[in-house]
Amino acid sequence: MLTSASRQTRWRNANRSKYDAHLAVRRAVSDGTLQKRTCEVCGAAKVDAHHDRYDAPLEVRWLCRRHHVKLHRGGEDMFPLRAPPKASLT
Ligand SMILES: [Zn+2]
Ligand SMILES: [Zn+2]
Repeated sequence: MLTSASRQTRWRNANRSKYDAHLAVRRAVSDGTLQKRTCEVCGAAKVDAHHDRYDAPLEVRWLCRRHHVKLHRGGEDMFPLRAPPKASLT
């Protein structure tokens, strides 16, 4: 049986990479490694970094608060991922 303490530990471990990824972004932005962009949907200047993958902490998508929340609610497929569009062979 899980004690509440071990549930806490599990939560922390599950969120550790998320937390680390956000720290890495903040560090990279402040030292110039990573450039903040405008929201990829609406172009708003005030953006959050969104991670598609927390194991690639500097692979972020920039989204304003509104679109960031929307993406999380709607699921990752809501906006096209950054993958290059399939080349249409004409
Ligand atoms: Zn936006
Ligand atoms: Zn996000």
